[in-house]
Amino acid sequence: MIAIDGPSGSGKSTMAKLVAGELGYAYLDTGALYRATALGLVRLGLHEDASDEEIAAALEKTAVAFADGRVLLNGSDVSGEIRLPESGHYASVFSARPPVRRYLLGIQREAARDADLVAEGRDMTTVVFPGAYRKIYLDASVDERTRRRTEELLAKGFSLNAEKIRREIIERDERDSGRKIAPLRRAEDAAYINSTGLSKEEVLLLILNVVRSGE
Ligand code: C5P
Repeated sequence: MIAIDGPSGSGKSTMAKLVAGELGYAYLDTGALYRATALGLVRLGLHEDASDEEIAAALEKTAVAFADGRVLLNGSDVSGEIRLPESGHYASVFSARPPVRRYLLGIQREAARDADLVAEGRDMTTVVFPGAYRKIYLDASVDERTRRRTEELLAKGFSLNAEKIRREIIERDERDSGRKIAPLRRAEDAAYINSTGLSKEEVLLLILNVVRSGE
């Protein structure tokens, strides 16, 4: 198990996929699970101020899973929809709620039972897989993350305002780091890699050095 945490837009997904490919491991995108779960809650009519009881009841009617690289919500493929900007917002809001974190904890650990994984998210190194073989905290400046996210969304055909994206990144950082349960933070035993100004190849090498250190 290689566990990678970091803020929104730090390059975790790109890197986790590349590292998984290098090592022949499977890739676990836990943000996708939070996004699909939040989409399920919104579809059931829940608002951001729903009570924990309402959320817990709605989760009983929600089934989130991975199948062949796609994300399924109640059996339907939502892989495209969960990438819409508002899905990231709802994921960030509902991921701060205890019933949602409890619900996904088991699903994430189950995924690690039969496969070697590179898992990425916000609490892989601290809560979900504290015993991971290697832990990495991947960071990048707000400006760099804004630039990457803007390019990524433009490539997908969204017309966007970079200043708005910057504000959303800062808001997401505050919510993800400031929440009471499983906040985003660097685990003491996680290697810190700042990818600002580095190419993908350079970051991949740094991560692989960490993975192979001490072998
Ligand atoms: O990584 P991604 O942007 O897809 O994650 C969407 C949101 O899901 C994050 O902003 C965060 O609030 C939440 N999340 C989380 N814990 C994880 C992965 C994602 O709280 N392990």
